[in-house]
Parts: sequence; C-alpha cells; structure tokens
Amino acid sequence: MTEPDNTATQTSFGYRDVPEDERQDHVNRVFAAVAERYDLMNDLMSGGLHRLWKDDFVTALNPPRGDQAFKLLDVAGGTGDIAIRYARAAGRNATAVLCDISPEMIAVGQRRVQDAGLEDRITLTQGNAEALPFPDRSFDAYTIAFGIRNVTHIDRALAEAFRVLRVGGRFMCLEFSQVDVPILDKLYDFHSFTVIPRLGALAAGDEPAYRYLVESIRKFPPQERFAEMIRAAGFERVSYRNLTGGVAAIHSGWKI
Ligand code: SAM
Repeated sequence: MTEPDNTATQTSFGYRDVPEDERQDHVNRVFAAVAERYDLMNDLMSGGLHRLWKDDFVTALNPPRGDQAFKLLDVAGGTGDIAIRYARAAGRNATAVLCDISPEMIAVGQRRVQDAGLEDRITLTQGNAEALPFPDRSFDAYTIAFGIRNVTHIDRALAEAFRVLRVGGRFMCLEFSQVDVPILDKLYDFHSFTVIPRLGALAAGDEPAYRYLVESIRKFPPQERFAEMIRAAGFERVSYRNLTGGVAAIHSGWKI
C-alpha cells in the first residue's frame, strides 16, 4: 500500500487545503457541476447586480465602435457574459476569443453565442489561463471576469496575459474584492456565508460548490495587493476602481 504523499505542496481550495497539483481538478469539478445553472444562479445570488458590474466593466474597456479591427481575449470567459457584451458594444471588425478550461462552461457559452447571432465574431477555445494556447503579442486586450481567483498560480496567469498582449494592449480584471464600508461588510458576510450556500443547496442542489465560490472570494488578495501583482507581471499605469463598496473591483493595467 502506498502512503499518502504528505510532502506535496498544499494550497487553499476555499477554506481547506489541497495538494497544489490537484486544485485545478477541484475547481473544474465545481464548474462542471454548476455550468447549466450558472447564469440563473448569478442572477439569484447577486440580485442581478453582476449584470451592472459586467456592463460597467465592458464600458471601461471602451471597445472600438468604428470599423477598426480589434482582438479581445476573454479568459475564464465561461458562458460568455463579457464576450457577448463586448461584441454588442463594439464595431463589426472587433472580434473576441473566449478561452476557458471547462468544456461544460464552454458548451453553455457556445449556445449563448449562437443564440445571440455572434458566432462569426466570438470563437470559443478550451485552455488554461496559466498556459494560454496563443502566440505572443496576439491580442489588443485581455479580460478576465470572476475567473482569476480560481486559478492556482495567479502570477503565471498574469505573466501569460502580458505575453499574449501586443505592446499598447490592455489587461482588465473584474473580481470580487474586499468590502471596506462599515455595516455593508456585516451584511455581505451574512449574504456570503448564510444566504448563498442555502441558495446553492435549494436552487442548484449543490451547497459545496457555492460554499467554495464564497470561500475563494475571501482568499483572494485585497485590491492593493492584487494591483501589486499586476505591476509585478510587467504592467504599467495599474489602477483599480471599487464597485458596490468593494464587493467587486475593476483592475486595469497596460503593456507599454
Ligand atoms: N467570466 C465568466 C463570468 O463572468 O460570468 C465566468 C466566470 S466563472 C465564476 C469562472 C470561470 O473560470 C469558469 O468558467 C471556470 O471554468 C474558469 N476557470 C477556472 N480555472 C481556470 C483556468 N485555470 N483557466 C481558464 N479558465 C478557468
């Protein structure tokens, strides 16, 4: 009988520790399980607020509205919320590649892209944010929304974002963040640790998946620390803006 390898490097998966090389499999199981109900659950859990944040995010990206060619890479793009918003807002020569590690999330995304009539402008590809299947300097912008906290090595994902962007390209991240408004933080804790797991159990039949989603938010670095990681990857003019008192934040950086 082989003994468990206690020397393997551990990392956090929500509030529990798992061997680092197994974390992505745990994450993939979560999204395989929630894919079909992902969009409905986002609306239920956030009361529709995620739509406003995503609108704000794509407005901040400011995609070209004229005829100029523009290529966006939307990593961890899931069911397509960002890529679809972008394609609707941008001119007809603006295209997007949605890259996600989960075939189940991509399948839902593919359906939604087709329903939106955008399959000529949005292509979907399976890939890991830590080792993107794209050449150097091949995109004008890189977005990642509610995705980077699921990645095991955030520094590797940021290095990959830097690699695939052309010089002058922009990195943008929308992610849950740290609430710094008194009272709102208590309400947010109640919502996170009581309401969401119950909603996950009732509406999606999967309490552990939604507990992970909440716990992973709390493990993600606060605004300033994440901004520092973006700078360390080589980006310049790094900035962030809080949404809803810091429940989420938009981070931005440029490859100059
Ligand atoms: N961006 C979408 C949105 O805002 O609705 C989906 C966000 S969803 C919370 C997180 C996504 O990250 C899932 O689709 C999951 O499969 C994807 N993901 C997790 N780890 C990943 C990785 N290492 N590389 C690429 N995608 C990953």
